[in-house]
Amino acid sequence: MENSYPISNTIATNGYYGSFGGRFVPDVLNSKLDELNEEFHKAIKSESFQSELDYHLRTFVGRPSPLYYAENLSKIAGKEIFLKREDLNHTGAHKINNALGQVLLARSLGYKELVAETGAGQHGVATATVAAKFGMKCTIFMGEEDIKRQRPNVERMKLLGAEVRSTSRGEATLSDAVDAALEFYINNPQCFYLLGSQVGPDPYPSIVGYFQEVIGREAKKQILEIKGKLPDSVYAAVGGGSNAIGIFSAFLQEHEVALYGAEGGGKSDKPHETAATLSLGKPTVFQGTYSFCLTDDNGNPISAWSAAAGLDYPGISPQHAHLKEINRVTYCPVYDAEAYEAFIILSRREGIIPALESAHAIALALKLQPEDEKLVIVNLSGRGDKDLFNIATKKDD
Ligand SMILES: *Cc1c(COP(=O)(O)O)cnc(C)c1O
Repeated sequence: MENSYPISNTIATNGYYGSFGGRFVPDVLNSKLDELNEEFHKAIKSESFQSELDYHLRTFVGRPSPLYYAENLSKIAGKEIFLKREDLNHTGAHKINNALGQVLLARSLGYKELVAETGAGQHGVATATVAAKFGMKCTIFMGEEDIKRQRPNVERMKLLGAEVRSTSRGEATLSDAVDAALEFYINNPQCFYLLGSQVGPDPYPSIVGYFQEVIGREAKKQILEIKGKLPDSVYAAVGGGSNAIGIFSAFLQEHEVALYGAEGGGKSDKPHETAATLSLGKPTVFQGTYSFCLTDDNGNPISAWSAAAGLDYPGISPQHAHLKEINRVTYCPVYDAEAYEAFIILSRREGIIPALESAHAIALALKLQPEDEKLVIVNLSGRGDKDLFNIATKKDD
């Protein structure tokens, strides 16, 4: 069989991306993370693992996802815009790519129970979905606030057989759900922690990044087939950083391709009103990794805000921190109001209702007009069904 898995661009060297990354966890977790790292490296070299992953990505997830020429949006923007349609994946976002990869690792290691955190509920749904498919018990932690904002996804997780546990600590959003899930994980060693974004202690950023590389691999092949050349720019929304690293990974070495990350700018640049971690945060240790984080004046992590629950996280992938430091990717805040506007434009003009998270990437592609930018790809990370209620109340404001 042809080996379709070239050398990875997302696996950390000894756990680090430049000076970022590492593993800052209680001792009890070290042996589990070592075991996971070993299994991961064994699996990705195994032809049977790769062909099984490939099979499920095709038949269950529905890959490859199309690269769609957004003709009407292109006219508005004055440049050719292609959308990588991760919204068309089973369960409606890119999260399933990673959930599928990790459940195969969990199964190889003999686990029968999964635990995960979720913000927008997309990762919770993806995890509950693979748990159902592979016959595993599933516990999902979610902040009380997000449970209110993302009701349809809570119902989906329950239908899929998962137990959804609400946490009311802190702001009762994503980072609090991570804390609660980590605590549960430490007390329940029979569980496999299925982490949803490119964050957390080594080896998770490598694992999540690796399983999302399929987005970039496909997009690069597709744009070369359709246009016969590479894009001038690639745009993606950045929450924890997984969909962005997924699409960027294929272009990191192509220095003529500009890469832009749209962060959740929230209501303003003020503390507690923003989720623009790379634009406004500082390097610190947070939830197991050394990366950028939103902090107060004493350097303590503070809460984030974004209208998009999937971007509402004060931390960020250590690989993105590195890509910022070496100036390979440009990160810009996109404010809630700009994202709402892009959400409406894409819905009305292209007939595609995007996730509010993805609308941040669309907004940035419409806003930035570098002179030589003629051909761009925007990663449409998910669909917007989950945001309908949110948007409807917004319009009534
Ligand atoms: C979770 C989510 C995001 C943000 O997470 P990343 O890890 O940064 O990709 C973006 N878009 C959608 C649709 C999501 O569900």
